[in-house]
Amino acid sequence: MSTFRANYFDGRSSRAHEVEVRRLNAGRIHIGGDGIDRIEQVSALRISPPLARIARTIEFADGARLLVSHHDLLDRWFPSGDRLQRLVDRLERHAHAVAASIVVCLVMGFVTFVWGVPWLSDRIAAQVPERVETALGEEVLGQLDRFFGFAASKVERLRQDELSTRFAGLVAGLADAGHYRLAFRDAPGVGPNALAVPGGTVVVTDQLVELLDDDREFDAVIAHELGHQQHRHALRQTLRSSFVLVIAALFTGDVSSASGIVIAVPAFLLQSHYSRGFEEEADAFAFSTLAAHATSPAWFAAAMRKLDDHYGETGEEDDGPAYLSSHPRSVARIAAAEAAGEAFIAAHPELVRETPGYDPCTGEGNCPDDDEDFDEAEDADEVPEAGSCDRAAIERKKGF
Ligand SMILES: [Zn+2]
Repeated sequence: MSTFRANYFDGRSSRAHEVEVRRLNAGRIHIGGDGIDRIEQVSALRISPPLARIARTIEFADGARLLVSHHDLLDRWFPSGDRLQRLVDRLERHAHAVAASIVVCLVMGFVTFVWGVPWLSDRIAAQVPERVETALGEEVLGQLDRFFGFAASKVERLRQDELSTRFAGLVAGLADAGHYRLAFRDAPGVGPNALAVPGGTVVVTDQLVELLDDDREFDAVIAHELGHQQHRHALRQTLRSSFVLVIAALFTGDVSSASGIVIAVPAFLLQSHYSRGFEEEADAFAFSTLAAHATSPAWFAAAMRKLDDHYGETGEEDDGPAYLSSHPRSVARIAAAEAAGEAFIAAHPELVRETPGYDPCTGEGNCPDDDEDFDEAEDADEVPEAGSCDRAAIERKKGF
């Protein structure tokens, strides 16, 4: 059968004419019925692309048109030259293909959020001018003071100067050394903590200064925070977390909605987690920076342990406030710091005495009462009383 029925509109009135369309030879069709009788070359007609089973329109050069319900003859009479369109048409007619496309969309949505959002956030972060990031950092510092109980430091001026000198030594080798600043804050409600605020400022609390009694531990924490600064982690993580707000601001031009981001930063720095990748990046930066300053990366492990002890870690990351919630305890991270420390000593054996917990008793066999082999205690993080070689002390360390 080579005919189908259609509704014909003459292009001048809205009246529909019921017609029969018949294929003639020489590439022509005949439209006849209800007072209509015309013959046209198929090649002179334009047909709307197929879309599932929606009716299609055939347009004539004089403005007339045919409205045709889905009919297989149409595909034969008007073969599409567009392969993609033919493929799409075929897919749209198959339930399995539709179901598969839904799955593909869901997978793409997942991929977008897992990889696409971080990628795009990083591209946006790279475009944020330094002065904007600095302004954001100042706003964050102000909010820490106003809303999170941060206050002027009570650490003695002389001690602040000592630590500032160490900070300056650590940043001296960096390309943008002038970009970084150390700020002290008293934060009894927050506890020992260090924060890398957008714009280059590293905030340390008085409580952290008090907790870390060896300045090399302070160096280790600072080096880690500088790692966050170097990679602009605060800005990047905030953009990732606030991506919906950012997108909304971009599309609507409504900057006020983006102000929510500024409010989110201090809370994020204190309560949320950096991604594991960011922490590992900051750790790696800390290890190499410490090594470059003739300091064993094992001091980072020592600092982490002190923080763990202070907060009485329960093993549940969300329980601990402050430093441990923003820097969740990780046995793997401490182990990585100690492995980096061992590599450092292998490369600089002359600095072995400068490693945390170095004990001449186990390290050099300088133990008056030594009658046992304590080699296993090499990774100890506390210094036993000189010459004591106390097995109980060693076991305590190993028990961590
Ligand atoms: Zn961190």
